[in-house]
Amino acid sequence: MLQQVDKKVFEKISPKDLLDATFEASMNFQIRAFFEAKDEILECSKYTEQEYYEILDSMIDAETERRYILKKMKNIDEALFLEEIVKEFKDIPPENVIRDVIYLKEQGYVEEQVEVKTKKVKKTIKGEEKVVEEKEYFYRYKAKDTEMDLKEHYFEPVSIIDEVGVCVNCGFCSAICPVNAINVTADHLELDEDKCMKCGLCFTVCPRSFSMNRAYETIKKLDNSLTFSEKIGAYLKTYSGTTTKDEIKEVRQDGGIVTSLLEYLLKNNLVDAIVAVQHSDKLWKPEPVIVDDVKDLYKTAGTKYANAPSLNILEKAKNYERIALVGVPCMMNALVKGELFPSGLPFFKNITYRIGLFCMESFSYDNIIKLVREQFNEDINNLTKMNIDSGKFIINLKNGEEKNVPLKDVQSYARDTCHYCDDLTSEYADISVGSIGAPGGSSAVIIRSKAGEEIFQGAVKAGLIEFKKLTEVKPGQFLVERIGGSKRNKAKSIELNKNE
Ligand SMILES: Cc1cc2nc3c(=O)[nH]c(=O)nc-3n(C[C@H](O)[C@H](O)[C@H](O)COP(=O)(O)OP(=O)(O)OC[C@H]3O[C@@H](n4cnc5c(N)ncnc54)[C@H](O)[C@@H]3O)c2cc1C
Ligand code: SF4
Ligand code: SF4
Ligand code: SF4
Repeated sequence: MLQQVDKKVFEKISPKDLLDATFEASMNFQIRAFFEAKDEILECSKYTEQEYYEILDSMIDAETERRYILKKMKNIDEALFLEEIVKEFKDIPPENVIRDVIYLKEQGYVEEQVEVKTKKVKKTIKGEEKVVEEKEYFYRYKAKDTEMDLKEHYFEPVSIIDEVGVCVNCGFCSAICPVNAINVTADHLELDEDKCMKCGLCFTVCPRSFSMNRAYETIKKLDNSLTFSEKIGAYLKTYSGTTTKDEIKEVRQDGGIVTSLLEYLLKNNLVDAIVAVQHSDKLWKPEPVIVDDVKDLYKTAGTKYANAPSLNILEKAKNYERIALVGVPCMMNALVKGELFPSGLPFFKNITYRIGLFCMESFSYDNIIKLVREQFNEDINNLTKMNIDSGKFIINLKNGEEKNVPLKDVQSYARDTCHYCDDLTSEYADISVGSIGAPGGSSAVIIRSKAGEEIFQGAVKAGLIEFKKLTEVKPGQFLVERIGGSKRNKAKSIELNKNE
């Protein structure tokens, strides 16, 4: 998915329409804030002067495209589905139209009308086939009556996300903020009001501000090569795989697929660096790292169940031309949001592969220590591995012993913010990897893009991975779908009450 607007789009628009749209775009609060704070932005040295102008140019292009679409939408009397609106704009790529309509809705220019219908479906519940009622939601969009709604919604800085307790501490806002006004650690977010120039960029890309799921889903449904599942998102193929390399088997969490893919990417010069995590000076407290040499790769293998602000480090990875990033689903969501709503930020352009992990929940480092002490009566420093498998939380100790407790007994230690998460399988990644569904010692792999398929098959050809179809192993894909669906149904909804 391209982040920037292709200027060729504008060649098809009449000069008058383009001029009107550009004029209106220049009044957008985000662009004005960015324009007026040029000196402060350059003083912070996050972006060079050339990058500053590229970002500004890209923001103006994106807003111009949106204003053009808005103007044309005002001539449409009825509310339409996204797929129908696309057909009204033959001169603009469908994915641009879809993302623009959703963004215009967030800006307050377009209204969303929701229709709820009830349908009867057959379901097998506890082995018995039953007919149950299910709600179906239909979303239509219509430009608002502008006389009343000329003022666009101003996007709050992301402190609002933290205040309502839904920040996932991914660190993305901190990485992108042009004036370094945000500091994010694994359990804290601090915003310097004096530095903030109120550009709202952080809010646009934050995975917990407004949802881009509908835009993403509609775009993916345009691609006939993809299968779409309500429970695990869009995918090309699903596999169960394991590494063939003994050194990776020693350090891996499950099938060692992630480390094998990363090794393949680095060794074959398909990326210049990878972003992952490794133990910090405190064992089991993960710290994000940039690895550009295979010899340092194995230190990153294995799951650390405490969260880390991995996206913070993207700022430092900016100078690598192509990177692969490993992260949990909320991080994949942030990255795609940044690509979908263009801002021209330079480091979006270098993320070449998104490798997503499955994730049911994560824990603060303090709570992981507490969990190990209270549930197992052990010191965290005595652990060689933690794992979640078959409904159990399992620990392995340095003395070779293995202990487990039911997963439900550790759920109260999980981060509250994870209860708002509806994505188990990293739906926004190029390739997603987890243990659910795959036999012990293997990983379940969901390929979601051509790039994901290329690197998986590349690693297979290089002799690093062997695989079967996920539908042909036990317990198999149905379990991933079942647990993915259950996570989605249980997720709490986020209420920000912004702009009130
Ligand atoms: C917090 C968390 C919760 C998870 N919950 C589930 C679950 O409920 N069900 C399930 O099937 N799978 C879950 N997983 C994924 C699973 O634990 C494995 O990471 C996955 O199966 C890949 O295994 P592998 O052997 O291929 O990975 P490996 O080859 O061992 O590589 C693991 C990769 O994950 C990265 N990583 C480890 N910890 C973190 C972290 N905290 N943040 C970001 N990246 C990290 C490492 O840097 C490394 O690149 C979870 C992962 C995490 C991080
Ligand atoms: S971008 Fe990430 S760290 Fe920043 S507010 Fe949003 S969730 Fe929190
Ligand atoms: S904190 Fe957010 S709104 Fe404020 S300057 Fe940084 S990115 Fe812009
Ligand atoms: S459960 Fe969701 S919000 Fe929590 S760490 Fe995993 S992906 Fe992020």
